[in-house]
Parts: sequence; structure tokens; C-alpha cells
Amino acid sequence: MTHPKKKLIAGNWKMNGSLAANAALVAALRESVGTPSCDVAVCVPAPYLAQVQGLVDGSPLALGAQDVSAHAQGAYTGEQSAAMLKDFGVRYAIVGHSERRQYHGESDDTVAAKAAAALAAGITPIVCVGETLSEREAGHTQEVVRRQLAAVIHANGHCISEIVVAYEPVWAIGTGKTATPEQAQAVHAVLRTQLHHAAGDLAGRIRILYGGSMNAANAASLLAQADIDGGLIGGASLKAPDFLQIIAAAR
Ligand code: PEP
Repeated sequence: MTHPKKKLIAGNWKMNGSLAANAALVAALRESVGTPSCDVAVCVPAPYLAQVQGLVDGSPLALGAQDVSAHAQGAYTGEQSAAMLKDFGVRYAIVGHSERRQYHGESDDTVAAKAAAALAAGITPIVCVGETLSEREAGHTQEVVRRQLAAVIHANGHCISEIVVAYEPVWAIGTGKTATPEQAQAVHAVLRTQLHHAAGDLAGRIRILYGGSMNAANAASLLAQADIDGGLIGGASLKAPDFLQIIAAAR
């Protein structure tokens, strides 16, 4: 299988930031990011898309959203369509983050429809999959992530090689508990095999990110694994020096 040339490091700011904080963070990133050997994105809260579009203009930083509506337009109060995100230069949209699955009841089918909506607008969905602690302890990790990814493959089979997958064990998100490189690689290999069945050799192009308390100290060992093609970074993406160190570790 051919592997993608570049890793992807994507920051998920979650519901953090302000006009002033965003300007300071992006300025600090721009000042020191240089010409990274990986792709870099920041996934920002929807109200700040226009601001951050301007802040990242002409830099190696791509703009990302944290969610996208499954619907094209109409009576869906509070949602943003993929076309609207595209209007603001959005290149990536996180779909199926565990916080949306957990707090907003998003099902596998909803996540799959959101991925389809993003792809139809030319936005790369970052599809999050991952097991809870109880699912891991019950030995169901592989079954859970395969089920979550299968829904996305089923709905997007023809263009599945255009997605990014993020393996985010729920027990590792925001907890300071990171999957070991070996634990993460084992799940990534399962996902790669599933993608290979769906997309053949094109599966090698699909980037599978790890997310869950990735930080400046543990990034290099995670990113050294054969099937870890980047990271989705929450907390550490809000601190410019930490995020920059993770970017530097992604060769
Ligand atoms: C995330 O929210 O996608 C995430 C990985 O968060 P953290 O890095 O803070 O665990």
C-alpha cells in the first residue's frame, strides 16, 4: 500500500477562544511554523470562521470547522451547511466527534450523512471514531470502531479515499490519559485493513489521525507508528508552543 506523503496535524479548539485570543494564537503559530513538512489545520468555533479565515490567509495553516450539517439548506436552526463553510474557505470539517455523539446524540448514520455533505461540497471530513472505556474493558474496541467507520464507508463508498479518519479513544480525550503508541497502532491497523477492503490500494492515501491527549511530549512516539498519519489535537492546540512542537514532530 502507498502511504500518503504528508501527515496532517489538526487542532480542535472546541468551544474556546475569543477575537483577541484567536488573533494572538494564530499570530504565534504564523511566527514560528515556517514551512512545515506536514499539513496543518485549525478547526475553530463557527462564529470565528470569518475571522480566522483572514488570520490564516497566506500561511500554511488551513481552516477547519468542528461540525457540518447533514442537510443542504432550510429549516435547521443553529446548523451550518457545507456550502456555507465552503464560503469561508473551510478545507476540513470534523464529523462525529465523541462530544457530538455523546451530547448531541449523533448516530453512526448521522455522522455518515455529515461526511457525505462535506464531501459533496469539496470539504474533507475528519471522521472521528473511538470506543469508550467500558467498551474497551469489555473487549469491544475493534467492533465499535469498525461499526462507526462502516457506516461512513457505506454512505460514501465511491469517494471514501477522500476522507480523513481520526481514531479518538473516548477515554483519552481531555483526560491526560493517552493510548500507548502500540494500543493506537493496533486500532489504526484494523481501520487501515477495513479501508483497504473498501478502497483497495487507495486506502494507503487515507490519513488516519490519532487523537486523545496528544501533546508535545508524546507526539513523536505516536507519530512514529506505521499507520498513524497525524494527530487531532484538542487541549494542546490552544498553546502555540505545544502545537508547534507537535507539528515539528510530524515528519
Ligand atoms: C479532541 O477533542 O479531539 C482531542 C483529542 O482532545 P484532547 O487532545 O484535549 O484530548
